[in-house]
Amino acid sequence: MVVELISVGTEILLGNIVNTNAAYLAEKCAGLGLSCYYQDVVGDNEHRLYETIRTALSRADILLLSGGLGPTQDDLTKEVAAKVMNRPLYLHEESKAAIQQFFEKRGMEITDNNWKQAMVPEGCIVVDNPNGTAPGIIMAQDGRHVILMPGPPNEMIPMFETSIIPYLSSLQSCVIFSQTVKVCGLGESKVETMVQDLIESQTNPTIATYAKTGEVHLRVTARAEDEKEAKKMVKPMVKELKGRFGNHIYTTDDEVTLEKAVVDLLLANKLTISTVESCTGGLLAARLINVPGVSEVYKSGYITYSNKAKRRLLGIKKNLLLKHGAVSEQIAREMAKGAALVSKADVTVSITGIAGPDGGSEDKPVGLVYIGCSVCGRVTVKECHFSGNRAKIRENTVSSALSLMRECILQYYSEVTFGSKEK
Ligand code: ATP
Ligand code: MG
Repeated sequence: MVVELISVGTEILLGNIVNTNAAYLAEKCAGLGLSCYYQDVVGDNEHRLYETIRTALSRADILLLSGGLGPTQDDLTKEVAAKVMNRPLYLHEESKAAIQQFFEKRGMEITDNNWKQAMVPEGCIVVDNPNGTAPGIIMAQDGRHVILMPGPPNEMIPMFETSIIPYLSSLQSCVIFSQTVKVCGLGESKVETMVQDLIESQTNPTIATYAKTGEVHLRVTARAEDEKEAKKMVKPMVKELKGRFGNHIYTTDDEVTLEKAVVDLLLANKLTISTVESCTGGLLAARLINVPGVSEVYKSGYITYSNKAKRRLLGIKKNLLLKHGAVSEQIAREMAKGAALVSKADVTVSITGIAGPDGGSEDKPVGLVYIGCSVCGRVTVKECHFSGNRAKIRENTVSSALSLMRECILQYYSEVTFGSKEK
């Protein structure tokens, strides 16, 4: 079935807000096996919205709209969609009661325009919105399905997951099941080359690669009559990928991030960790601390941006800094060792690099980063060359640091060879 996404809001057209709803819905629809050929963005304008919905209805089976369900004058998605479908609006008592309850619970005063949200098109399915006042709306007619959802992501996403996904699944005769195999420590082109033959010969299940910052995700998707069968079809492909990528796979669980995999590895081996960062200024610490339960393993984070801080906090010798420069393999090593000494953590990770846009030289260009990792006294340093702007270089550095930590810990315990140079 073909789906078309329509994001409503002048704010999106003007670039005041980023259309994260479309990105979210597009990814979810692909996962559900729906084909999406067009995404539209339209402002809060009656005529243009009317035309957009009509055009979309001529080329898609399912329309997913987000935004413009609010109480104000410029919120007109429901009114316009109902007009296209020739459905008058009526007052939906349950929605009225839900709106009343929503306001009372929060001790807020209801303004008259809020009742507009309880008006729904005749013959529609009203979808519960536990996080806001605008209910979702589903209108089905002549094999077409028009689905309206509120714009705020904290309302749209739970509504989509709880109510809309089951509805969309019920429209399809088959079930789609996907599993993501997450790979780190290998570049996108390398990963693609390693699965080229599988991609070329794919039918069911299919396999797709998605490049993320510092990692690559492989999505295996099977289509079958029921979920059990689809899962059974995905299994041998995932097994094949495990055979090809070995320890570069950090998880096959959608919910597990790279930082979570690293924290789990530290927990499993009862290791503590400290981080010491220069050009990333705490980004690595922040990503680790995003993981619930990290307090069991995380000891301290140092931001040693200046040479003075590197000397004072980590005890790095002045002559070493002068001889090699702060961005060097030797200083990354000293930073990791220094952090281990002062924090007494089992694992320490150090980062020193040139994030730009200034500060580069022929010898040490922008994007040159050294990442050090000490595991119980055994230090590895990796030299990296990143491209992109300052933000991109810092983001890439953090992902590479997480990958390196994982690699060093695994290597320490099992002597697995990953092909990285130990210096
Ligand atoms: P409200 O009741 O808040 O008015 P609504 O359903 O009318 O909700 P909009 O008025 O279109 O939705 O948007 C409200 C807010 O929701 C926007 O200011 C924005 O923060 C967020 N939002 C809307 N559409 C999107 C989108 N496509 N992607 C990300 N955020 C969005
Ligand atoms: Mg609104």
